[in-house]
Amino acid sequence: MNEPATHTIVVMGTIVTIQTASSDPKHSRQQDSAIERALAWFHHIEERCTRFNPQSEAMRLSNQSGVSLPVSPVLYEAVGFALEVAKASDGAFDPTLGLAMERLGFDREYSTGQTVHTDIEPTSAVSYRDVLLDPIRKTITLLRPLVLDLGAVAKGLAVDMAARELREFESFAINAGGDLYLGGCNPKGEPWTIGIRHPRHEDALIDSVVLSNRAVCTSGDYERTADDGKVHHILDPRTNAPEKSAASVTVIAQSTMLADALATAAFVLGPERGIPLLDRMGVDGLIVTPSLDRYETRGMSRDYRPGASPVL
Ligand code: AMP
Ligand code: MG
Repeated sequence: MNEPATHTIVVMGTIVTIQTASSDPKHSRQQDSAIERALAWFHHIEERCTRFNPQSEAMRLSNQSGVSLPVSPVLYEAVGFALEVAKASDGAFDPTLGLAMERLGFDREYSTGQTVHTDIEPTSAVSYRDVLLDPIRKTITLLRPLVLDLGAVAKGLAVDMAARELREFESFAINAGGDLYLGGCNPKGEPWTIGIRHPRHEDALIDSVVLSNRAVCTSGDYERTADDGKVHHILDPRTNAPEKSAASVTVIAQSTMLADALATAAFVLGPERGIPLLDRMGVDGLIVTPSLDRYETRGMSRDYRPGASPVL
């Protein structure tokens, strides 16, 4: 194998890195253009899904609540998937928390530093039940004034789309700020070993997993904060306050969007209800509580060796 090539961009408020290792130098131009296409997905999805740009498709829905609007395939996919996870988690996961997030202080666009103030007054408490999809016409209708927050699915979707572009190269790693997809083997020809950060010690690991052709995503209360560090970014939709029953959740799944969303959902549910959700959804995971107790699914410590084909 050649020396691995690493490409990094800043997008979706995080650092996205793609690492590849081509076995044939003749492929390097092909590989470069595949990486370009892979990275372009992050911008494409961010542009449509962000709540930080009043002109984005997601915000156009907010500004015309009650109207059925045709949307792009990626926005339809992200919202449709978020609603599925909302139902499966009995509302612990909820993509309608945009205004709650903004009011807690998550109101700054990462690239410009500008704060957003959405001029929408909710008429009453909103939930995922206020979002309607029409699968034939591919429209979305917001039944009440609300702001979508797709922060827990958009990165995962972008990683999956990027992985599709790179699939022909077999061995690659995509890391979008803690949401990863690992294709094939690492540059040494072994399955990838991924460290899981200790939620209370920045430079320490609490565990590691061995993976191939799998996604692994972690949601942690240390990742993003507002109000001078007083509040973190994963909310209990019943109270709109930061959830306290977990410090971090790591999920391994076949698709990054699933791992991303379920890590957030299990974080809100906490160990008692989060582990059964992960079991029901057929994925593995580890929940670490603020007192550093560990809860995991039975398959969490298994090796995810190559041979399993990617399902993206
Ligand atoms: P993640 O870092 O993948 O766990 O996603 C956290 C992000 O998802 C936050 O920054 C919010 O944008 C959004 N979010 C927060 N709480 C929830 C929730 N209960 N359900 C769905 N999305 C949420
Ligand atoms: Mg997530």
